[in-house]
Amino acid sequence: MSSEGMGPSAVRDANDVAAWDAEADVVVVGLGCAGACAAIEAAEAGAQVLVLERAGGGGGTSAMSGGLIYMGGGTPVQQACGIEDTPEQMFTFLMAACGPEPDESKIRVFCEESVAHFHWLEGHGVPFKRTFYPEPFMEPPTDDCLVFSGGEDAYPWDRVTPPVPRAHKPRHPGAAGGFLMQCLVAATERSGARTLTGGLCETLVVDDSGAVVGVAMREGGHEQAVRARRGVVLTAGSFIQNREMVMRHSPLLWRCSYKLGVEGDDGRAIRMAMGAGADVIRMDAGEVAIPLTPPRRLMRGILVTAQGQRFINEDAYYGRVGQECLFRHDGRMYLIVDNAVYERNQAGFEATYVEESIADLERSLGMASGVLQSTVGLYNRHAAEGVDPLFHKNAKYLQPLVESPFAAIDCGTDKVLWASFTLGGLHTRPSGEVLTPDDRVVPGLYAAGRTTSGVAAYGYASGVSLADGTFFGRRAGRSAASAHGRFVG
Ligand SMILES: Cc1cc2nc3c(=O)[nH]c(=O)nc-3n(C[C@H](O)[C@H](O)[C@H](O)COP(=O)(O)OP(=O)(O)OC[C@H]3O[C@@H](n4cnc5c(N)ncnc54)[C@H](O)[C@@H]3O)c2cc1C
Repeated sequence: MSSEGMGPSAVRDANDVAAWDAEADVVVVGLGCAGACAAIEAAEAGAQVLVLERAGGGGGTSAMSGGLIYMGGGTPVQQACGIEDTPEQMFTFLMAACGPEPDESKIRVFCEESVAHFHWLEGHGVPFKRTFYPEPFMEPPTDDCLVFSGGEDAYPWDRVTPPVPRAHKPRHPGAAGGFLMQCLVAATERSGARTLTGGLCETLVVDDSGAVVGVAMREGGHEQAVRARRGVVLTAGSFIQNREMVMRHSPLLWRCSYKLGVEGDDGRAIRMAMGAGADVIRMDAGEVAIPLTPPRRLMRGILVTAQGQRFINEDAYYGRVGQECLFRHDGRMYLIVDNAVYERNQAGFEATYVEESIADLERSLGMASGVLQSTVGLYNRHAAEGVDPLFHKNAKYLQPLVESPFAAIDCGTDKVLWASFTLGGLHTRPSGEVLTPDDRVVPGLYAAGRTTSGVAAYGYASGVSLADGTFFGRRAGRSAASAHGRFVG
C-alpha cells in the first residue's frame, strides 16, 4: 500500500492493504489531553489500545498550556473554598458564554458530570489544592487552584447566573499544562495502552461499507498500515498552524501574533476525517486572548476603538475583549489610562503615547477632534457616580480618569501579543461519534479535543479547552472500545 502524493483528505481503500503492520482494538491519533483520556478510558473498558503520536513524546499543545481546567457544579475545591455552585448554574453560564448557538447536548452532560470528571482526574493522578486565587483569567503563579476564568463576575454574565470561579489548575506552581500531561501520560502508560511516537498519521483506511478500519502512518520514510478493530479516535489538535486552512475559514485569526499550538496543530486529522465523509462545523470560530490583565487595576482604564469610542466593559474576560476587538473592530484598540490608574502590564504592554491632556492624546492618536474627549468626559461623569450605563463595568473598577499625565497603550494586533487557537472542527455527538453532513455516524470514527467543535461554539472561557478535551476524550475512548463501536451509558 502506498499513499505517496495523496492529500490527507483522500482515504486508503482497505482492499489495497496487503498486510497490516500493527493492530489494536482502538487506535488513538495524537497524545495530548484528549488522546490520553481517550486511551485510558478505552483501555480501562478492556480494549487493546494503540496511541500514535507524531512528535517524539506525548504532550502536544496541552503540555504548553496554563493547565486551567473548567469544572464546576460543586467540586471538592469549590466546596472547600466555600463557593456554592450547581450543574444548572454552570450550564446556564456556559450556554450564554460559549454561544451563539452552542451544542446544548454537549454542555448538558459536561456540566452534569463535571464533579465526577474532577474525581476521575484526581483518581488518575492529577492533584488539585483546595484553594482559591483572586487574580482572574491567568493561571496562578503559585500552586493554588481555583480562578475566575471567563468573566463570570463581569457584565453580561454576572446578570445571567451567580458569579462562580470554575477554572481548576492542577497543584503545580505557574503554568501547569506540562505537569498535567506528565500525570496523564503516566496514567496512559499505567492503563496498558501502548504508544508509538515519531509516526505521522496521514490518511484513514476505509472498507467497502464506508467504515473506518485503520490509519495509514508514515514513520521514518516508511508507510505503515495500522488496523483498528473497533475504532479510530482522532485527538490531533487544532488547525491554527495551518495558514491555508485559517485563511480559508477565519482569516482574521491569522493576524494574532501568537498561534497557540504545536506544529501538529495543522488540521490534518480534520481533513483525514473529511475524506471519510465527516462534516466540519464552526470553522470560523477562534479563541482570541489579549492579556491586558493581570493586573486587574488596568481595568480602571477604558478601551477605545481607533475612532476613540468605547465598545465593551473593560472588566470583561480578555478572550471576550479579544474576540469583540478582532472580529468587530479590525483588531485595533487603545487602552486609555491616567496617572492614577497606570501600572505596568505583566505581559509587558508599554504606554505608547503619553500626554498632559486628553485633547493632546486625541491629537497624537490621530482621532477626530473631540471624540476621545467626549468619550472620556462621558465615562468620567458616570464613573464619578459609580455607574457605567453604557457597558456596565463593575463599580469597583469605575474611577474617573482625571490625573495627568494621560497615556494610550496601543493594543493593535500588530503591536502587542494576541494569542489565538481555532475552536471549529469535526461535528461530533457527545459520545465522540463523528457525523456526516446528513447527521449520520461515520462508522468506526470518533474524535475529541480541538480536532472537534466542542463546548465553546464561539465564545470561550479559559479552561474550557482542556476540560472538554479531557471530558469528551474519555467519552470517545469509551465509545470506540464498546463492543460494536457504539457508546453505551
Ligand atoms: C500557552 C498556552 C496556554 C493555554 N492555556 C490553556 C488553559 O489554561 N486551559 C485550557 O483549557 N486551554 C489552554 N490552552 C489551549 C489548550 O492547551 C489546547 O486547546 C488543548 O491542549 C488541545 O488539546 P488536544 O488534546 O485537543 O490537542 P493537543 O494537546 O495539541 O494534542 C494533539 C496531539 O496530536 C498530535 N498529532 C497531530 N497531528 C498528528 C498526526 N497526523 N499524527 C499523529 N499525531 C498527531 C500532536 O503532536 C499532539 O501531541 C492553552 C494553549 C497554549 C498554547
